[in-house]
Amino acid sequence: MTFVTTFNAYAALERGQPLEPFEYTPKALGPTDVEIEVINSGLCHSDISMVDNEWGMSTYPLVPGHEVVGTVVGLGSGVQTLQEGDRVGVGWQSNSCGRCEWCRTGEENLCGDMEGTIVRGRGGFADRLRVDARFAVPIPTEYPSAYAGPMMCGGITVFTPMVEFGVRPGMKVGVVGIGGLGHLALQFARAMGCEVTAFSRSRDKEEEARSFGAHEYVATKEDEDPFAGRARSLDFILNTVSADVDWNPFLDMLRPKGTMAQVGFPDDPQISLNFVSMLFNQSRFAASPIGSPEMLRRMLEFALLHDIKPQIERYAMSELNEAMDRARAYRQRYRIVLER
Ligand code: NAP
Ligand code: ZN
Repeated sequence: MTFVTTFNAYAALERGQPLEPFEYTPKALGPTDVEIEVINSGLCHSDISMVDNEWGMSTYPLVPGHEVVGTVVGLGSGVQTLQEGDRVGVGWQSNSCGRCEWCRTGEENLCGDMEGTIVRGRGGFADRLRVDARFAVPIPTEYPSAYAGPMMCGGITVFTPMVEFGVRPGMKVGVVGIGGLGHLALQFARAMGCEVTAFSRSRDKEEEARSFGAHEYVATKEDEDPFAGRARSLDFILNTVSADVDWNPFLDMLRPKGTMAQVGFPDDPQISLNFVSMLFNQSRFAASPIGSPEMLRRMLEFALLHDIKPQIERYAMSELNEAMDRARAYRQRYRIVLER
């Protein structure tokens, strides 16, 4: 085992501040923990929200990075599922109570006492991190490290609601917001055999969205009447937008018994919905958090089978602040990966 006593990370020392090199002494390696040497880490919009304390749960110094790919370099005394040298991925969740009904039935992402990789712990913008071994998920050998990171949060967050809310071949699926999450959602929906419509603000992303699998493309801020003729046309709508939007025209697009699932975080969590079309259509508004370790395994297998991978921009971890500025301005196409 090659334990080190100091981890070299990048941290925001205060709310909204640029990241700075930051050394820390990790918590003791518990019997169920693993130590991981980081290969790379994706940059999710939630990292920016956490640096800015948008959700009131950030503590500083804050080390972001929750789409981590790395190699197991240390094992707690009780870990039997992993070995040194295994290549693993870590997403938003780094631990859970392990005892509640959700943990016992493999839905740890629904545990009421979950530990976030960057909420109670320190994340992957670092040379190493320690997490509970259940949340270090083996990456299939054939799946490249550079692509695996963005799947650990971006990918799983869109894959899980499609599975949980019953997306099936032949369904008509809309994806709103074509960013890190959205561009993966287009690929998953297409591979699941759906007819896919991308909703983006402008026409800029049309060609790429079609290459990811969209059959149709709607520019909500540029098309003359973007929602005309689309009432009752979609079985499932996935909202990945990280801003306040009028969701009512989207609700009206649901077919009877359809589901609109929210995974993006608007600035204001109090959203206003007109339920009338939902009542007449027996349709649903839903939301969904990340996904379980078991779902991560299923998603990686599915991604491998269908050649689903993020379109990435590579940065050295030392160029982190430049990368964060680019993601803040929504200019990245479509996921930034920070490499050590
Ligand atoms: P991202 O790459 O920045 O993409 C967000 C997309 O939202 C943008 O590409 C843009 O799409 C659209 N958008 C941004 N500002 C907008 C505005 N003012 N009006 C309308 N659309 C706007 O972000 P991401 O990493 O995919 O994350 C998306 C959201 O999911 C974030 O809020 C993040 O915190 C959240 N998230 C949730 C979970 C969960 O467990 N539920 C997990 C991960 C992330 P267009 O350019 O195509 O319009
Ligand atoms: Zn994330």
